[in-house]
Amino acid sequence: MRAVIYPGSFDPLTNGHLDLIQRAGKLFDLVVVAIAPNESKTPLFSLEERRSLVEQSVAQLPRVEVDTFEGLLVDYVQRRGGHAVLRGLRAVSDFEFEFQLALMNRKLNERIETIFMMPKESYTFLSSRVIKEVARLGGEIGCFVPEPVRQALKEKLRPAQPGGRPGGTSYAADLECATSRG
Ligand code: ADP
Repeated sequence: MRAVIYPGSFDPLTNGHLDLIQRAGKLFDLVVVAIAPNESKTPLFSLEERRSLVEQSVAQLPRVEVDTFEGLLVDYVQRRGGHAVLRGLRAVSDFEFEFQLALMNRKLNERIETIFMMPKESYTFLSSRVIKEVARLGGEIGCFVPEPVRQALKEKLRPAQPGGRPGGTSYAADLECATSRG
């Protein structure tokens, strides 16, 4: 059985992440979404919250597992018997960092390959950071994240919307959805 490990912060999971998980599912027997604590990035959601959101969002997808890990990624991949590491490339700007990371991981364990996949074009602008920013300002993000994530962001950011548009406007939502469908 060939397994790919998809590591990341997933703070929170977006439709871009989900797109990659589905693509990888066509190539591998098992996709393990491996959530790193990444405390240095001061995550909005706790590790357990992130895990629960990913679990709810992939519940309908066959052969996808959700896990958390600490320490070196290559050690985790080895422990899980993973055949490859999956990372996403959205734009050229991702390349340099991902290139460094992949080569460092190869230095640490040369048996582990990193593969890169590109999301659907309309998800290339999506990042957890931008989603959090838009949600914080009261923008509608329903087209960009799975429903459990939308709900959780609304709950989490509800008190911090003094100048924002609570719940967003349907006009903005329509525009954003039109773009994301493209
Ligand atoms: P990290 O903090 O490890 O970068 P992220 O959760 O931000 O964790 O991202 C995990 C992986 O998913 C990274 O390889 C990132 O490039 C990729 N990724 C993030 N957003 C998208 C997207 N919209 N489309 C494709 N890949 C993405």
